[in-house]
Amino acid sequence: MTSCKQLQYDFVVVGSGVAGLWTALHLADAGKVAVLTKDELRQGSTLHAQGGIAVALSDEDDPELHLRDTIEAGDGLCDVPAAEILAFEGPSAVTALIEMGFKCDRDNGQVAFGREAAHSQRRIIHAQGDGTGAEVQRVLMEAVRRHCAIDIFENTAAVHLLKVEDRCVGVQAHDLVAEIPVFFLSAATVLATGGIGCLYRVTTNPPVVLGDGVALAYRAGATLKDLEFVQFHPTALAAPGYPKFLLSEALRGDGATLVNYRGEPFMEHYHKMGDLAPRDEVARAVVQEMKAADQPFAYLDLRPIGRERLERNFPTIVQNCRDRGFQVPDQPVPVSPAAHYFMGGIATDCDGRTSIPGLFAVGECACISVHGANRLASNSLLDGLVFGRRCARAMRDCIHPSPAELKQVERDRPRPVQVGTGFYHDIRELMWDHVGVVRSEAALRTAVQHLKHMSTAITETDNPPRYGFETVNAHLVASLMTFAALNRTESRGAHYRVDYRDASPHMRCHTLIRRAPHTYEPQLTYAPVAEQRM
Ligand SMILES: Cc1cc2nc3c(=O)[nH]c(=O)nc-3n(C[C@H](O)[C@H](O)[C@H](O)COP(=O)(O)OP(=O)(O)OC[C@H]3O[C@@H](n4cnc5c(N)ncnc54)[C@H](O)[C@@H]3O)c2cc1C
Repeated sequence: MTSCKQLQYDFVVVGSGVAGLWTALHLADAGKVAVLTKDELRQGSTLHAQGGIAVALSDEDDPELHLRDTIEAGDGLCDVPAAEILAFEGPSAVTALIEMGFKCDRDNGQVAFGREAAHSQRRIIHAQGDGTGAEVQRVLMEAVRRHCAIDIFENTAAVHLLKVEDRCVGVQAHDLVAEIPVFFLSAATVLATGGIGCLYRVTTNPPVVLGDGVALAYRAGATLKDLEFVQFHPTALAAPGYPKFLLSEALRGDGATLVNYRGEPFMEHYHKMGDLAPRDEVARAVVQEMKAADQPFAYLDLRPIGRERLERNFPTIVQNCRDRGFQVPDQPVPVSPAAHYFMGGIATDCDGRTSIPGLFAVGECACISVHGANRLASNSLLDGLVFGRRCARAMRDCIHPSPAELKQVERDRPRPVQVGTGFYHDIRELMWDHVGVVRSEAALRTAVQHLKHMSTAITETDNPPRYGFETVNAHLVASLMTFAALNRTESRGAHYRVDYRDASPHMRCHTLIRRAPHTYEPQLTYAPVAEQRM
């Protein structure tokens, strides 16, 4: 029989990106914290973030303007109170990060602010030019490693949420090295498992990010929200390899221009903001140009930035392009859209509470509706900082399950599963081809059918390989996203339907999905957008 461990903590944090580690640090003076992460501590999207953190900290800026830009980009689906919290609590959260040791780039001693698409002000703080995420991750990892109230469990994957009646009392994890189950019991559990990028063949996200937290929450009965909204970044480097290397929007903020194969700039034909139009508009324009030219990519011309400035401000990008044989800035680089950011996720209030008592969610796996239908560039690291802090405050109010309750902890967890080789590959192809930048009813219905058919290939096993649980989570989340996309019969933000090209006033609402009682079938309802300022 497989042995197993049971550990008791005050708080359990699943995930070690900006959202998980920041939340853990804000919990650590209130009790013992376990941080679980399924790979090394550093792995996650946070490490790869380039452009920076959007925050209204400069003298010329105002949180009110940041709020306006966030709502504008969100295309009617931002909940105003959530966006207001992001913009107005952003400056103090970022100041706290700087005080913790985050070294942002400076000009003459003053914090340097960059510009990105759809921002009306220069408000992007950054570190090491385009190495912001790595610097955030460094500071937070050092802080959690120093903290005696935080225990870190690397190579430990959350596979199932533990519940007593309707309340979450911890998580069942799998130690991927010892190959044993570990039960973490806690007063409050927070999912910070990141986005879903790796459900797509072409993505900027690292391999650990494929929707585990969303799948766990759904199985436990939590409400999910706006799953149809995936942001496709318009300019991933179109070179072999996975994930795709991102060419940050900050390049276009500094003058880089999208051009077609004849070297002609094209964004002015698509949007009044040209190369700095919102991401969804730029991504569709790139797809359009690729189709018109019958080419698998368009190009980004970096010459307008100038060699010296390019090398100074974007050292990581320059190095990565040159390593792949592109002599920037002399040569334009091939680019294509890639799945990048998930606006949907586990529905939470502004303090990270999900619909299940004791269960919280924060960061990219959560949907607070702060990004609406389309996230404003560089708002997601800020999201992790602002809402991580609030979430930690709310988690402190949770009380431990009693010994009697703990005895009841459901151990009716699903049996480990396995799938054939190629299963994950097929999901990613299907999602890219049918639930991608441009969608249609026919394509979405095809995806639904294929995903249904694929579920027959999932079988039980005694030996839970990592590939099995991750892939089954990926399959579940892909199915739910496709279901949501099929139901949204309009185009809004990042969700674009060729058969419904306009936004519909009747569909200006959130999509909520939860499993039907006693089955895993999704039930869909709608909720209004919160419009009132706080
Ligand atoms: C290339 C790139 C560039 C970006 N640039 C920017 C930018 O400039 N500015 C900006 O604001 N945003 C940017 N983003 C987006 C931003 O980086 C992410 O939205 C943000 O970092 C997400 O943080 P997170 O903590 O929610 O998730 P992540 O940082 O992705 O962390 C998720 C964590 O969960 C763990 N995990 C997942 N499943 C499990 C499981 N089952 N059990 C245990 N652990 C699990 C992972 O191992 C990982 O540690 C970028 C993203 C990418 C990919």
